Amino acid sequence: MPASAYDIVVIGSGPAGQKAAIQGAKAGKKVVLIEQEPGIGGNCVYRGTIPSKTLRETAVQYERLKRSSEVFEGKMRFDVPMTVLLHRLDEVVKAHECYMAGQITRNGVTYRHGRARLLSPHEVQLETVDGACQTLTAETIVLATGSRPSSIPQIPVDHEHVLDSDSILSMIYLPRSLTILGGGVIACEYASTFALLGVEVTLIDRAPRPLSFMDAEIVEVFQRSIERQGGRFYSGHTVTEVAWDGVSSVVSRLANGMAVKSEKMLVALGRRPNIEELNLEAAGLTMDEKGRIPVNEYGQTSVPHIFAAGDMLGRPPALASQAMEDGRRAVSYALGLPVGESLNQVPIGIYTIPEIASIGLDEEQAAARYRGPIIGRAPFTEIAKGQITGACNGLLKLVADPSGERLLGVQIVGENAAELIHLGQMALQDGAAIDRFIDTIFSFPTFAEAYRVAALDILGQRRKRQDDAQAA
Ligand SMILES: Cc1cc2nc3c(=O)[nH]c(=O)nc-3n(C[C@H](O)[C@H](O)[C@H](O)COP(=O)(O)OP(=O)(O)OC[C@H]3O[C@@H](n4cnc5c(N)ncnc54)[C@H](O)[C@@H]3O)c2cc1C
Repeated sequence: MPASAYDIVVIGSGPAGQKAAIQGAKAGKKVVLIEQEPGIGGNCVYRGTIPSKTLRETAVQYERLKRSSEVFEGKMRFDVPMTVLLHRLDEVVKAHECYMAGQITRNGVTYRHGRARLLSPHEVQLETVDGACQTLTAETIVLATGSRPSSIPQIPVDHEHVLDSDSILSMIYLPRSLTILGGGVIACEYASTFALLGVEVTLIDRAPRPLSFMDAEIVEVFQRSIERQGGRFYSGHTVTEVAWDGVSSVVSRLANGMAVKSEKMLVALGRRPNIEELNLEAAGLTMDEKGRIPVNEYGQTSVPHIFAAGDMLGRPPALASQAMEDGRRAVSYALGLPVGESLNQVPIGIYTIPEIASIGLDEEQAAARYRGPIIGRAPFTEIAKGQITGACNGLLKLVADPSGERLLGVQIVGENAAELIHLGQMALQDGAAIDRFIDTIFSFPTFAEAYRVAALDILGQRRKRQDDAQAA
């Protein structure tokens, strides 16, 4: 078959690939988007963000129902099929598929279903489901093949009793107990969702605390919240062996000799880039010692017309929002279009219950860089909206420089944290002063009002520091 020529070939239709393809098409280029799965959207839609957040929403609604009808002492039945808990998933995925397919078609991107690999610096082989192969040529190639769950030999994932983040939602029934290995974002999100649904959750991690890259005080609020649901954290523990006992339990043995039993296990030990099958060498590309493709700030590899974007880069944060921006930036740069400033402040949203969100420096990072940063706190118990909605379990922290004037970061745990963080993000990007939050009228009652309360806390500390300095 003759080779088909394109300006841009994009491999992978997750958030990174989609945005790369659309950016190229909008610039008038002939673009083909290749995806090996039957639908457009990547892990984000089928195995990650969308399904996990749909289950989370069910858990949150269940909790609200319980809270508003405490007299009934309602409990989740354990023979509830997962399909019931995920009842809106099909609808949500279909809506997404429809929207994305429309966007791809509207912009004139050609979509091909099949597996792609590199044949040479400008050639990509497309193998379709019937085994037929076709060669596509391109001026620019964007690799956006995402990532998959990491595994380790001593913990055999059988996708029935021991599951990973790709298979956890294929469980037929809600389990009574679940051991979760790992203390990262996926582990903590699923831990809080299942705990809220009444599952006995045990989270085991080598690190001294879960989400160790986040502000310690913020994580503590989340940790206490799971413990109130009956969840347990075994931090600082290593699992040496995992086995299904053949009857009813998965048994995890810890290095200290302890054994933890549960009906199911979720292995959430991070993710690794989907790179091996791309045949990089044919295009003159190599992986680094960590198994990643080295790129510059635009995602450009050592072969200048080949770019990599999204989770396949294997660097944090592995977020859909970051992947989209990577895809857009890579193609803009390749086509010589304005790329915009490199966004080094990506908001982190963690959909635990309660949510966690972060932008800029946290307390520890600020203390390492500045002598005596001032931290303003707004516990949600002091926020009318928290009282009204019964969502008092929250805290917003503003991190300011030692003069208490400049905002360095915002850390939040609590209802709507992932939405609230954007106000802090805009303030940080605009270099807004702490006083800006004091001079602003916030609607009442809102959670956003927490910004003002935290800023007033900083103001108080700032004055005290000034008085102390004058007195000294
Ligand atoms: C459980 C879970 C929950 C998450 N929750 C969130 C969240 O709440 N918010 C958030 O921002 N992020 C979340 N993420 C992360 C988010 O899903 C990823 O960051 C995002 O999907 C990365 O996008 P991507 O385009 O790089 O890759 P992907 O979405 O992984 O897409 C890559 C695509 O490439 C295809 N592909 C791979 N190899 C080939 C090949 N050789 N040929 C053709 N096609 C190929 C794959 O089939 C896949 O469809 C979550 C992830 C998980 C696992």
